[in-house]
Amino acid sequence: MAWMSSGSSNASLIKNLTSNGLITSDRVKTAMLAVDRAHFAPAAPYTDSPQTIGYSATISAPHMHAAACESLLPYLHPSARVLDIGSGSGYLTAVLASLLGPSGKVFGIDHIQGLVDLANKNMSKSQQGKEWLQSGKVKFVKGDGRLGYQEPGVAAEEGKWDAIHVGAAAKEAHSALLEQLKAPGRLFIPVGEGTQYIWVIDKKEDGSVVRERTMGVRYVPLTDHPGE
Ligand code: SAH
Repeated sequence: MAWMSSGSSNASLIKNLTSNGLITSDRVKTAMLAVDRAHFAPAAPYTDSPQTIGYSATISAPHMHAAACESLLPYLHPSARVLDIGSGSGYLTAVLASLLGPSGKVFGIDHIQGLVDLANKNMSKSQQGKEWLQSGKVKFVKGDGRLGYQEPGVAAEEGKWDAIHVGAAAKEAHSALLEQLKAPGRLFIPVGEGTQYIWVIDKKEDGSVVRERTMGVRYVPLTDHPGE
């Protein structure tokens, strides 16, 4: 199904993902149409498969980006604060930004400075992306995503996240991520060292945590810093 969604343009890729049932929401469709994958994938941007972006990293396949957005959607309200861990190319960070209103904010965090620089460069290829970087709606930072991210100058409680996306496979759902999640909030995280599954972990309004194991996936691992 995934490969069958490849297209010859951004619009045809999104159309095929939609007709194959991989995008079901109009909001996700509009957001993915608004961000040209060619700004983020150096080769075969409209093929529904991961592509290498250097530094042993890949831009994930379009159907996985769609699945992440669909899953996080109920938490992506206009003023939501969103954390994209392992932001890599910056593509999903851009799509998440386009799902929020003007007061929403997305931080992309990656532990490789070259990828933080690449994400900034990719984002600046469109007028919209430039504006988001200038206004602070989108920000890329360097850090170990397993620790989440605390925005400097923002109180811990106010800095919590409505939605956290993890774009690399974790050994576990790191406790810092759950701590930094708002109640209600949702964490979308691939977990596993051999066989990996996406876990969708909700912190409910009363603070209780509900974990659901969903689809089997193959992501690059969330690791210690490789050294540059
Ligand atoms: N969502 C990105 C996926 C990039 S691949 C995209 O679609 O473009 C996974 C990314 O996770 C890589 O960029 C890698 O550098 C990053 N990563 C791996 N371990 C990390 C860690 N501990 N902290 C932050 N980023 C990490």
